[in-house]
Amino acid sequence: MITIKDLHKSYKMGSNSLHVLKGINFNVAEGELVSIMGSSGSGKSTLLNILGMLDEADAGSYTLDGVVIKNLNEKIAARYRNKFLGFIFQSFNLISYKSALDNVALPLYYQGVKRGERIDKAMSYLEKVGLANWSGHLPNELSGGQKQRVAIARALASDPKVLLADEPTGALDSKTSYEVMNLIQEINDEGRTILVVTHEPDIAEMTKRIVNLKDGQIIQDTEVKQVRALQNV
Ligand code: ADP
Ligand code: MG
Repeated sequence: MITIKDLHKSYKMGSNSLHVLKGINFNVAEGELVSIMGSSGSGKSTLLNILGMLDEADAGSYTLDGVVIKNLNEKIAARYRNKFLGFIFQSFNLISYKSALDNVALPLYYQGVKRGERIDKAMSYLEKVGLANWSGHLPNELSGGQKQRVAIARALASDPKVLLADEPTGALDSKTSYEVMNLIQEINDEGRTILVVTHEPDIAEMTKRIVNLKDGQIIQDTEVKQVRALQNV
């Protein structure tokens, strides 16, 4: 699903340059649940942003579902992003004046889905994340865990091939974090490919594979022998 070869990325600041990704190689097959782990500043978000086509590498190659991602204009990049990718962020990024249902329905609006169908679909995704009874509520009427569930429903609404989550539990307490990771596990069980960025080992152990990033390089890439389930955390 994802093939990355010798990826490099630097940030230029005036005459200085910060080399953040220093030759990243890895592949993710369809249906994997992978965490990218590393301490703050190791380059996790930079890598995820490149995978999410929100940023471009300086060198190396990136292939997503057979499509070479390179020098795409913004319009085509946006089309691929909508088609291939769903995003989940630490800070939820919900629209504050829209209900849970309307937040989930928004990507469908951009896909040109008609209103009735939008509402039906959005409702079914809210049901899936256990929030059918909260559809009319605004984000500030929801707990952190509920907000992240809405964000997950929104990410699923466009039926993406890959879900990219950047510290999805970063703003949640431990118990809620494990519940959100459990939902992510269930979505993966249905065959969806998911990448989770985290700096927390207990969160990474709820995925099936841990890619360890340090100072912009992969120092370890291991299968999780015993994936943690909600009841064992
Ligand atoms: P992580 O997500 O692992 O904490 P990041 O990928 O966000 O790490 O950042 C890696 C390094 O790149 C950090 O030193 C950070 O300060 C720097 N950095 C990130 N984004 C930018 C940017 N837009 N401009 C300049 N430096 C950046
Ligand atoms: Mg980050």
